[in-house]
Amino acid sequence: MIINIPENSDFSIHNIPFGIFSTADRSPRAGVAIGEHILDLAAVAELDVFDFNTAVLEKDTLNDFISLGKTITKRVRTNIQHWLQQEDSALADKPELFVMQSEASMHMPVSIGDYTDFYSSIEHATNVGTMFRDPKNALMPNWKHIPVGYHGRASSIIVSGESIHRPKGQVLPKDATTPVFQASARLDFELEMGFITGKSTAVGESISIQDAEDYIFGMVLLNDWSARDIQKWEYVPLGPFLAKNFASHISPWIVTLEALEPFRVSGPDQEPKVLPYLEYEGIKNYDIKLEVGIAPDGSEEETVCHSNFKYMYWNMAQQLAHHTVNGCNINVGDLYGSGTISGKDENSYGSMLELAWMGTKPIKMKDGSERKFINDGDTVIMRGSAEKDGIKVGFGEVSAKVLPAK
Ligand code: MN
Repeated sequence: MIINIPENSDFSIHNIPFGIFSTADRSPRAGVAIGEHILDLAAVAELDVFDFNTAVLEKDTLNDFISLGKTITKRVRTNIQHWLQQEDSALADKPELFVMQSEASMHMPVSIGDYTDFYSSIEHATNVGTMFRDPKNALMPNWKHIPVGYHGRASSIIVSGESIHRPKGQVLPKDATTPVFQASARLDFELEMGFITGKSTAVGESISIQDAEDYIFGMVLLNDWSARDIQKWEYVPLGPFLAKNFASHISPWIVTLEALEPFRVSGPDQEPKVLPYLEYEGIKNYDIKLEVGIAPDGSEEETVCHSNFKYMYWNMAQQLAHHTVNGCNINVGDLYGSGTISGKDENSYGSMLELAWMGTKPIKMKDGSERKFINDGDTVIMRGSAEKDGIKVGFGEVSAKVLPAK
């Protein structure tokens, strides 16, 4: 290895995730994370080792690079893996190609044209249905037939590290009949993963379930911030609006589907049987361990949730096949959220709404304070990684601090 990679790093030689970074002396450009470093792809391009137009590596988003297609992006990844392991490779003895992650700023990896958020965890949908409707009929009649989703807001998707202000909006006080305007008192996170599409389709075209994974470039961690009190008042009949569109954070490194290949696992049995366009062959879930921590201002982080992406009822291929079955087109760089990823255990729930069960079971922090939802000054940190047979592929983290309402 021509660069030191700490043992147990998320960014092992098996990963090679793509992102956009900048340094004090140079503007945003493409890089890959390796150990505690970033390999500067714009600088590597100057060595003339790539066989495509490397102007795409000097852009401030990865959209044009991803648009080159998987034949090229896969080869870039495997070439880098090879070069990093060859002591006499083109990258050897060139420390200027590597930047410490601690000395770089991360930017949005792609320009996101459209954002869709699904609702594909059966445990999450059951928990929410139990709380707000009827424990006996927690799932809506359509839930096991349709990967339910809604169209979100792309403009307010921001990269890990950027603080947000607590949102304000209309809230209906308990026992009141008219709303008041105030800062949300029920600010929540949603532990999600998102996939980013790497190929476009035309209006009228559909993506078959067999081809769906070919359209997925890679994945990120996603914190879909939610203001539960605003949501409760506004969401009938058309679904979430201002409760969700004030901010969503993603992790800065896109882990490719190729890097996640070793971690495929079977999904849950789907009963009743789904319609033919949603029937899939093969193994389409991924075993990715997820966790959420809350760090109160000036105090130690408390881990509040351990979940796993493998719990998803609907897989990404089904989501994309369903999304396009009516002819809805997709673009390179679109983001598709999984929906909150909850497991069966109480400590695997992916939101404060569920973890503290609508405020009835407050969570204890290390500093002795309690949380029903997220307080001002709290930093919410989500992490994710997959591990098997000594191979580790991680996402790093998506982290953001909540500041008081403006
Ligand atoms: Mn969500």
